Amino acid sequence: MSMLNIILFGPPGAGKGTQSEKIIEKYDLFHISTGDLFRKHMGEGTDLGKLAQEYIDEGNLVPDELVIKMVKVKIQSHENAKGFIFDGFPRTVAQAVALDEMLTSQGLNISGMLALEVEDEELRSRIRLRGKTSGRADDQNDERINNRIKIYKQETLPVADHYAMKGKYHGINGTGSIDEIFNHICMVIDLIK
Ligand code: ADP
Repeated sequence: MSMLNIILFGPPGAGKGTQSEKIIEKYDLFHISTGDLFRKHMGEGTDLGKLAQEYIDEGNLVPDELVIKMVKVKIQSHENAKGFIFDGFPRTVAQAVALDEMLTSQGLNISGMLALEVEDEELRSRIRLRGKTSGRADDQNDERINNRIKIYKQETLPVADHYAMKGKYHGINGTGSIDEIFNHICMVIDLIK
């Protein structure tokens, strides 16, 4: 049986974390969220956490080299997984190229990219709301939130083109109820798996 390797893509606040939890439960995939991994490192005060902190708090991207190394370790230590769901990664074309190479070298590939599509104004209001309880510095002020959306458009959107050119892009309307969105995601996964 081939592995199901999914990239869950979308701007900050699109609902990737919420949908990831439902997807991993239903399809038994191993979740790799680079945002969660960095927050864990920061919480534990590791060297990597210390290096990443400033970038993250300001809403900037962590340098590719650090991100790629961290993901590589995760993939290699879970070779027996039924598949992976990549959440918040790849966020630059360089990361996408590195991911493709990592998978190819193990005889694997990306099954598809599921892209949650949500309007900017809705994103800003969701992130501000999350900021009230998340304790995340990068959720707290409009300048940082706007910076993340700007960087998403400049650095991260080209990753969607990268997978669209391979015929792997699947757009999902990211507004509506959590279950409506999840149902749409499942329809696409059942088609590509
Ligand atoms: P969100 O998508 O809600 O903004 P994440 O939890 O995915 O949040 O990521 C939080 C922050 O962690 C990002 O703004 C960025 O600073 C850093 N980060 C996460 N993933 C990556 C990545 N693949 N490349 C570079 N930086 C990343």
